[in-house]
Amino acid sequence: MLSIYNTLTRKKEEFKPINPPYVNMYVCGPTVYDYFHIGNARSFIMSDIIRRYLEYKGFDVKFVMNLTDVDDKIIKKSNEEKKDAGAIADLYIKAFFEDIEKLKIKKADLYPKATAHMQEIIGLIKKLVDKGFAYNVDGNVFYDVSKFEKYGKLSGKNLDELISGARIEINEEKKNPLDFSLWKKAKEGEPYWESPWGNGRPGWHIECSAMSCKHLGETFDIHAGGNDLIFPHHENEIAQSEAANGKKFVNYWIHFGFLNINNEKMSKSLGNFFTAREILKLFSAEAIRLAFAQTHYAGPLNFSDELLASAEKGLEKLNNLADKVDEEIKKNNTTGNVPAFEFNKFKNDFENAMDDDFNSPQACAVIFDFVREVNRAIAENENISSKFFLDVKEFLQNTAEGVLGILDFSKSTVSSNDSISEDLINLLIKLRIDAKKEKNYALSDKIRDELNKLGIILQDSKEGTAYKRTKK
Ligand code: AMP
Ligand code: ZN
Repeated sequence: MLSIYNTLTRKKEEFKPINPPYVNMYVCGPTVYDYFHIGNARSFIMSDIIRRYLEYKGFDVKFVMNLTDVDDKIIKKSNEEKKDAGAIADLYIKAFFEDIEKLKIKKADLYPKATAHMQEIIGLIKKLVDKGFAYNVDGNVFYDVSKFEKYGKLSGKNLDELISGARIEINEEKKNPLDFSLWKKAKEGEPYWESPWGNGRPGWHIECSAMSCKHLGETFDIHAGGNDLIFPHHENEIAQSEAANGKKFVNYWIHFGFLNINNEKMSKSLGNFFTAREILKLFSAEAIRLAFAQTHYAGPLNFSDELLASAEKGLEKLNNLADKVDEEIKKNNTTGNVPAFEFNKFKNDFENAMDDDFNSPQACAVIFDFVREVNRAIAENENISSKFFLDVKEFLQNTAEGVLGILDFSKSTVSSNDSISEDLINLLIKLRIDAKKEKNYALSDKIRDELNKLGIILQDSKEGTAYKRTKK
């Protein structure tokens, strides 16, 4: 039985999707005004692990992550750089896709953009105005929190507590300091859209209500995001969606703990951040994912170089076993011994860990116990059949690779460089010499770099070109 800690009820609850085997899941995505940092990456990676585990369990997950492509920060950057706001958003959307691919994050089924959903957003605001939950003051439309009886239910606070705890901008136009913008009147030089209240643009919270409803329905299973979004972002999403539709918005709310530096939240505004692409130059995606998976998604995690270096070291054992497994499978030994091994026990342990509110630290411990026990079996037995190694591979593919994403069999040295024959390498060396003679250095460099990626290093000398195979 899978249980999930639900921020809304402050309890671990059995997970019951509305319409099994389908699961509808929405995660708040990036505001695309810069490269995302490794703190954002923690939320993206943990939501990826949760999604992969739901799929492992046989659920058919529809995973939606929005892209906030109209926002104060994007407009600020567009003014600073004297570029169109749309061009800034496009640039960082492209970078976002490059980085998530490098982090081995599975693509969402949909990445809706706010600018492509203006009809839905305006329609939802209109509904709220018509029902008396929102008011227009000279082209600025606000949500009236006093009208939504359950405002504060996600953060577990009443209106007075929220007012005293929040940093709220003073705005004469609002009836209550907690009222928030649904539609912002256009200012000089800002991008705008036409609406019944005049030209303007939507507030951030209404975008997520409109896009999640459009793509996942008025009530859906899981909504996730970082802890910083509980209040006000997710509280406001609930207020908007439930007031407009008269239905429960989301059944399970999942929130990710912060990635901190020196016990302070990593954030753009504090300036204490590293971009994911900077970190990916120093450490593998698998090491980043392992470092994150070794802490429960809900707790805080302190970021440091040592954290990633130790994950990288921890992965060596796993990668060595993966190499060994591929090597042995290639031998195709069908007559050898099959050592007794409790594959089922490890499978159950892995599932019990993940079923318990996605306890990935425990799941990682199961994987490393498994590696140790397989190595012991290999040491204690002779002439082992390939069947055993196929079973080992299947377990690792389903768990370490498939759910946690901390292993990549396609990187294994056996399936990569051993499979490239000497003749083929010599042919490529010859082609590279020809390219150089024709002064086609772009091609000759490309041949060298591509071979390098496959673990084959070319060494030029006066005598010609030799090569060596490296272990990756
Ligand atoms: P943003 O682009 O700032 O809207 O953030 C995108 C996602 O990353 C949201 O789900 C945030 O809650 C999350 N996030 C931002 N900073 C951190 C952090 N330091 N640790 C974990 N998640 C974060
Ligand atoms: Zn959101």
